[in-house]
Amino acid sequence: MMNNDCKEFLIDIGANLTSKKFNTDLDDVIQRAQEQKVNHIILTGTSIKSSLDALALAKSHNGLFSCTAGVHPHEAKHWNEEIKNEIVKLVADNLVVAVGECGLDFNRNFSSKEDQEKCFIQQLEIATQIKKPVFLHERDAHTRFIEILKDFRNQLPGVVVHCYTGNLEQLKAYLDIDCHIGITGWICDKKRGDQLRAIVKHIPENRLMIETDAPYLTPHNVDKKPKGGRNEPSLLPYVVKQLVESRNQTASEIINSTTNTAIKFFGLNSYC
Ligand SMILES: [Zn+2]
Repeated sequence: MMNNDCKEFLIDIGANLTSKKFNTDLDDVIQRAQEQKVNHIILTGTSIKSSLDALALAKSHNGLFSCTAGVHPHEAKHWNEEIKNEIVKLVADNLVVAVGECGLDFNRNFSSKEDQEKCFIQQLEIATQIKKPVFLHERDAHTRFIEILKDFRNQLPGVVVHCYTGNLEQLKAYLDIDCHIGITGWICDKKRGDQLRAIVKHIPENRLMIETDAPYLTPHNVDKKPKGGRNEPSLLPYVVKQLVESRNQTASEIINSTTNTAIKFFGLNSYC
């Protein structure tokens, strides 16, 4: 796994940089990310608007960004034929490296379960047609989520369950159907991260990727709390720091393997 020809840099596979919270200082955010060797960032699309914005941003920063396009389960109540067609159009762009963020969130239920399932299934269908990987969100919905996912798994080129927060049994179920796992600053959370810290060593090196989910989930192990508590890609090394401890690997090993895995998974070869 370590025989790679990549330079040592990090890839943030999920950042919501089209959020309003980055409106005024995105250039500084980008510069700080590059100072920390976060050399490629996949912008997360969670609605039509944020997917369009993410693609526009990716186009204006050649090489630094790629993006996903999809509709988050919180937004599932808005899903309709028109939005579906927009997503189909968006995911055809080369800079869109995955369909999503999509999935099920029965934790907050901002959309009904029926709407969430329909929106999730139709995006899985889109991914099988366009043959791009999916960037998935699952919160408190494991049983139904994996049932649906299994129906499509064989036709999907890749599946990443982003911001993994579940237990060991659920993790094994995802690994069994060849899913990749995205780890965020959740693992650094003093209380909520306990379970994840204990089980993260069960993720094979070639299935593990890292992300900030910025502006959310600021790592608790930061040396200095960022202003307003906002997370940003330059804080990705703190996720690595926690992984070093919890997986008993070196930082170089974590960085090289997660970067190589992301390049392979999302087809980012031109940045390597
Ligand atoms: Zn998510």
